[in-house]
Amino acid sequence: MKKQIGVLGAGTMGAGIAQVAAQAGHAVALVDMNEAALEKAQKNLQKIMSRLVEKGKLTEQEAVDIQNRISYGNSLESLSGSGMVIEAIIENLDAKHSVFKQIEALVDEDCILASNTSSLSIASIGSVLSKPERVIGIHFFNPAPLMPLVEIIPAVQTSPDVLYTAKNLIDSWGKTTVVCKDTPGFIVNRVARPFYGEALRIYEEGVADFATIDWAMTELGGFRMGPFTLMDYIGNDVNYTVTETVFEAFYYDPRFKPSFTQKRHKEAGFYGRKSGRGYYNYAEGAIQSEPKRDELIGQMIVKRIVAMLINEAFDALFLNIASKEDIEKAMTKGVNYPKGLFAWSEEIGLENVYQQLKDLFEEYGEDRYRPNPLMKRVLRDRQLSV
Ligand code: NAD
Repeated sequence: MKKQIGVLGAGTMGAGIAQVAAQAGHAVALVDMNEAALEKAQKNLQKIMSRLVEKGKLTEQEAVDIQNRISYGNSLESLSGSGMVIEAIIENLDAKHSVFKQIEALVDEDCILASNTSSLSIASIGSVLSKPERVIGIHFFNPAPLMPLVEIIPAVQTSPDVLYTAKNLIDSWGKTTVVCKDTPGFIVNRVARPFYGEALRIYEEGVADFATIDWAMTELGGFRMGPFTLMDYIGNDVNYTVTETVFEAFYYDPRFKPSFTQKRHKEAGFYGRKSGRGYYNYAEGAIQSEPKRDELIGQMIVKRIVAMLINEAFDALFLNIASKEDIEKAMTKGVNYPKGLFAWSEEIGLENVYQQLKDLFEEYGEDRYRPNPLMKRVLRDRQLSV
């Protein structure tokens, strides 16, 4: 029989992770201190299951079985007996320390303790435990049942066995796993920063408005959503906080500098869809501004943002954050990029990407545009081997 999976926190992420584990055939103990969150999770799951039955993706019996596999409760005690516990409570280190210590006292010696944190270091989470080698980051994307990617993050304390077991388990749930170093933003939230940051910068320079940048990135770049539509969807409050956290965590590296435009939108309560207004107005009948469909400007925007994304992918590889294959997988499966960034660099021509970054660096004299040394090295090696 498959081992029970414990999930702590029944919010957006915890509820989704519980569904994934139950669909994979595990008994799941979903625990939250807030009864309302548990009720909401249970009702939402019911709705999702009915929809899947209607669409013919599940039989009625399968849907009932999945729901019956999840037990809902507010006591940590029900996590005992789990083979793995995934924590998905609020993003606060003290709160996580407190629950991890309590859980460690309840579960078996070989129970893996995972955190779904987006921004805290796994090393710091594990540091308060008597067996920190069993702690690992397992970072799902929202919505967890739909997004295929899961980042697996061993901390410096994590044992190789725990990494191996955790990765195999999540793979067996049908997810695409990538392994990455315990560094800020892991892979996706690190490499994707210029998608927002450079788009904001282009807007601030007056090159184009929100609608035009979004048009360029979707119609010409092939991205599913433009940066401003996506930021409105994520919420400018959430997206700004991630940007600020990554910036601080990288010791204020100028590459990750947040933008005043987004800060002001956040301060004004222009969060995006959820508040009815962000970069766009979501009120009924609101008139949306039309993009200026200028192919030349559009291509320039795409080239600049994509070059910055490629530079970040090279930096992640240069610093051994993850393998090249995993960085490609992360960006295509975690944020639905139309192509892996390394593959894209070859399509554009790596020498062209490098030249573009060099031009930007010369023009602005700002560190954010410095081409990554690995890009230079790859090009030099290619020239030598010709
Ligand atoms: P959320 O606010 O929707 O849910 C958190 C839940 O945890 C709430 O129901 C709350 O009642 C519960 N909780 C808080 N403290 C608790 C405690 N001590 N014991 C038991 N339950 C407790 O949050 P979320 O968006 O699901 O995020 C959860 C975690 O996942 C965070 O670490 C976040 O960084 C990470 N994450 C979020 C996303 C996302 O897009 N929302 C994506 C990936 C990772």
